[in-house]
Amino acid sequence: MNALVQSLAAMSGLRDRDALDAALVRLVIDSSEGAVRSATLIRVVGEGDDRRCLLQAHLEAGQTQVSRDLLWTDWTTLPHVSDFPLRQLAVERARAVHSDAAPHAAVVPLLTSQGTWGLLDLGAAHALTTHTLDLVEGILLTYNNLLGLLDYGEKDALTELLNRKTFDGAFFKATAEQHGDELPEGGERRHADPDAGVWLAVLDIDHFKRVNDTYGHLIGDEVLLLLARLMRSSFRFHDQLYRFGGEEFVVLMRCDSVGHAQTALERLRERVQAYVFPQVGTITVSIGFSVLLPHDTPSGAFGRADKAVYHAKEHGRNQVCSYQALVASGELVDQVAEGMDVDLF
Ligand code: GH3
Ligand code: MG
Ligand code: MG
Repeated sequence: MNALVQSLAAMSGLRDRDALDAALVRLVIDSSEGAVRSATLIRVVGEGDDRRCLLQAHLEAGQTQVSRDLLWTDWTTLPHVSDFPLRQLAVERARAVHSDAAPHAAVVPLLTSQGTWGLLDLGAAHALTTHTLDLVEGILLTYNNLLGLLDYGEKDALTELLNRKTFDGAFFKATAEQHGDELPEGGERRHADPDAGVWLAVLDIDHFKRVNDTYGHLIGDEVLLLLARLMRSSFRFHDQLYRFGGEEFVVLMRCDSVGHAQTALERLRERVQAYVFPQVGTITVSIGFSVLLPHDTPSGAFGRADKAVYHAKEHGRNQVCSYQALVASGELVDQVAEGMDVDLF
């Protein structure tokens, strides 16, 4: 089989986004017959003048190791898109651009209907030919279609948040990075802060049944959609947002301290309370959260946050409760050590 077709076939079998990103940069370099010296896949995060470059995959010709930024990379350490004139131009024009003089480079944008979500930045020894650029654009189109298929399987159709099916895998990936298991060779921990950690929050709409009973399911669905939008605009780019089913949502977020986690969740709770939903008016949410522990399991962490939600529901709703704070105050009994599922109020 032709090597390019073989590589495309192998790429189409991948179900992991990081592996797909790595396969893309590898394929672009390998299929360019020496023309492309380096390939860098960037995810554009942020908006307007504060767009920044998150490294999804980078490979130099002749090397085998693909590098990337860590999942929980600090936003403030990311370079601005505007630091790279060619990348900035590709975002502004929403089409491929290349430099006419050395050092030769080309940047191809990855687009959705909402704008540019990513960029493929190619370094080259000589000006890239139309043939090579056409080839790269064809590979990118295939890659983008494959990503669309992954999205289809991993995202909730109504809210476009991640679905429950993807949670376990993301959980283990997040905890592995949190504990430094995935650090590149010689890499340093950027977050030596002992208070930093990953928190899991469970959010449940208060009295949502009333919304459905009063206004019908379609209006109820619109509330879910708008709530998902509020969530998206309340958290940072690397926080992971899930719809777990019905009117229950999960957030996996990295924060510098428990105070920051509590503040972020309080901010969301207040924004929901203040938002006027069409026809329905205002709604409230109850939120429970827990820090992730070493050797945690997805169900263990979810169970703790869920108990804190239950506590919030039992004590007036429209509030954020920390599992660890409830245990410390004696309002909940920690069952981690026993591995049991009993709670006392
Ligand atoms: P609580 O404050 O105790 O959480 O009360 P609640 O009414 O929100 O909770 P309950 O679990 O009793 O009901 C959840 C309701 O969510 C039941 C159902 O009407 C609604 N629901 C679940 N999934 C969907 C959905 O996909 N769309 C819509 N519109 N409603 C849903
Ligand atoms: Mg519920
Ligand atoms: Mg509810």
